[in-house]
Amino acid sequence: MKKNSIYIHFPYCLKKCNYCDFVSFPCGKGVPDLTQIYFKELDLYYQKFGLKNISSIYFGGGTPSLMSVDMVEKILEKIYTLYHIEKDCEITLEVNPKTVDEKKLCDFQLSGINRLSLGIQSFDDDELKFLGRVHNSNDAVHTLELARKYFKNISCDFIYALPNQTMEKWQQSLEKILLLDVEHLSLYQLIFEPKTPFYSFLKSGKITPISESLSKKMYEYTNKILKPKFPQYEISNYAKKDFESRHNLNYWNGGDYIGIGVSASGRIFDGKKHFISENPKTVSEWKNNIENNILSIKTLSAKKRAEEMLIMGLRKNKGINFTEFKQNSSINFFDIVDSKKLNNMVDKKFLILNNLSIRTSVKGKSVLDAVIREIIK
Ligand code: SF4
Repeated sequence: MKKNSIYIHFPYCLKKCNYCDFVSFPCGKGVPDLTQIYFKELDLYYQKFGLKNISSIYFGGGTPSLMSVDMVEKILEKIYTLYHIEKDCEITLEVNPKTVDEKKLCDFQLSGINRLSLGIQSFDDDELKFLGRVHNSNDAVHTLELARKYFKNISCDFIYALPNQTMEKWQQSLEKILLLDVEHLSLYQLIFEPKTPFYSFLKSGKITPISESLSKKMYEYTNKILKPKFPQYEISNYAKKDFESRHNLNYWNGGDYIGIGVSASGRIFDGKKHFISENPKTVSEWKNNIENNILSIKTLSAKKRAEEMLIMGLRKNKGINFTEFKQNSSINFFDIVDSKKLNNMVDKKFLILNNLSIRTSVKGKSVLDAVIREIIK
């Protein structure tokens, strides 16, 4: 059955990290209350699309753990009032160490949150400082211990392939990561995104990225060492059995989702047309639009939607199921690919094809972008 999700973007953080290109703003002392504007946007989406069953809700950011419990609770109540929420709906909140204490974690759990995504990023204090994080490794360990008391489903984020990071250093970090009592891991290689402090440091020669061969070695080692405990299920994501992120899988499988909040995006297929929503990137513009009943929605061609699904689908270890692809994109997988080039990629063992699905081989993963460019018509 088709899955539907809701994403809520909370755009404030204690401080901007050096690598971050998400839409997030330092909030200073007070955390703005966006409840009423979220309510209005949820109402507008409900009037426009009225999605049926919701299988996942995700509070991302920014730092949504800065929201008051009351705010999270009211938003969830509102969603429950509007939509039918599936019994085992996955409800995730992103949490940063130093923004919660035990009471707040307990209250988040009581409010209905059943999965935490904890932004740890590193257990090395020098690396955390370099990344511009507000917490140290002790804060992270402490938050994780407290979270474990109240949550059965915890994910942790880490960043690696940092300038000056050696293979040995990353191996040591992975040893600690492997010991964590968590269900899910997201491990991202550092990307120097334009308009970030790291990008300026890179341009001015203050920092040098590690070599491509070292980052490839780190990636392959990561997949190998994590495999027995946390098998990889997407390029950067690893999970114990049955703890894959349902919310992210819905994005990657081409399901429907609405995005609430500054810069949030969504994709909806109403059975006839595909829609894309992309909210403004400033709080004032977003608020202004919602106050004036304006949703930032455009139609999207089935071909464009199918291309997005191909790109995301091949990042998953299970790859693309042709039936699901047709159901969600409304066109056949083979209509958007050059069959000669596709067969060539299969012959070269970058892709693995059978009657029901196509997936990327281990060899294909390291050159996936090039493989995708090659096969799309
Ligand atoms: S906490 Fe997350 S969203 Fe906020 S600045 Fe750091 S990386 Fe960006």
